[in-house]
Amino acid sequence: MANIFTPNTLKGKVALVTGASRGIGAAIALALSQAGAKVIGTATTEKGAARITENLISQGRGAILDITNTESSLALISDILNQENTLDIVINNAGITNDNLLARMKENDWNDVINANLNGTYRICKLALKTMMKQRYGRIINISSVVGLTGNPGQTNYAASKAGVIGFTKSLAREVGSRNITANIIAPGLIQTDMTDALTSEQAEKMLAQVPLKRFGQVEEIAAMVVYLASDSASYITGETININGGMLMN
Ligand code: NAP
Repeated sequence: MANIFTPNTLKGKVALVTGASRGIGAAIALALSQAGAKVIGTATTEKGAARITENLISQGRGAILDITNTESSLALISDILNQENTLDIVINNAGITNDNLLARMKENDWNDVINANLNGTYRICKLALKTMMKQRYGRIINISSVVGLTGNPGQTNYAASKAGVIGFTKSLAREVGSRNITANIIAPGLIQTDMTDALTSEQAEKMLAQVPLKRFGQVEEIAAMVVYLASDSASYITGETININGGMLMN
């Protein structure tokens, strides 16, 4: 995919991408780094963090984060602020699924997904906000899902977490707009990653039938929008949900 951004687009900015070891997060981390940002990308393991450091061009590094854990989130943000003195861009991308019909869903399966996807976004945003408020600059981009808007059988927990991310981000955008901080949502449709590779071919076929563009999206197609929203060109966009779903849902 042709890159419309230059290495100066985000020059001098420090960006955090959660869940950057694979899939959408890895593409976002690479695209932000190609656009000139210093990127800290997270994984849940040392091995994953080392891979992120290898994959990022010139600057930036991998770090460890368990988004479900408050101490781990605090340690990560403290470390970034100690080393970089700033945090300009935050992409809350880390997320999990644990699908089941509600009738069979255990309370743990519900809580785990809400804790990772929604509470994790809350934790990182809250910790990053103090610095952004002080410096009167910030870009927050939270990754939701088309499922947070449409619902999906077998995903009450996931859909609730992703709908929650949308309401959360809109409220935050209203709270911090006067400090020159924008907060936006990207709601991807079917994007080819480990998460969608887990679908059976029958499930994938059924889902693609609802996509006018008749294909899975590529991770770079999400990453390009993240770079745009993080750039100065998007400084008057806040509280928006950007749908990238091949036409699966048209508002
Ligand atoms: P993925 O390939 O499954 O990767 C998930 C990422 O999240 C990995 O980097 C993983 O780290 C990290 N992660 C998992 N549990 C974590 C935890 N407890 N703490 C911190 N990080 C954790 O996922 P993806 O498909 O790229 O999806 C990325 C985001 O897009 C998610 O929020 C997802 O809900 C959303 N999304 C995806 C699609 C899609 O079609 N793929 C569609 C709509 C929305 P490790 O590698 O260390 O496990």
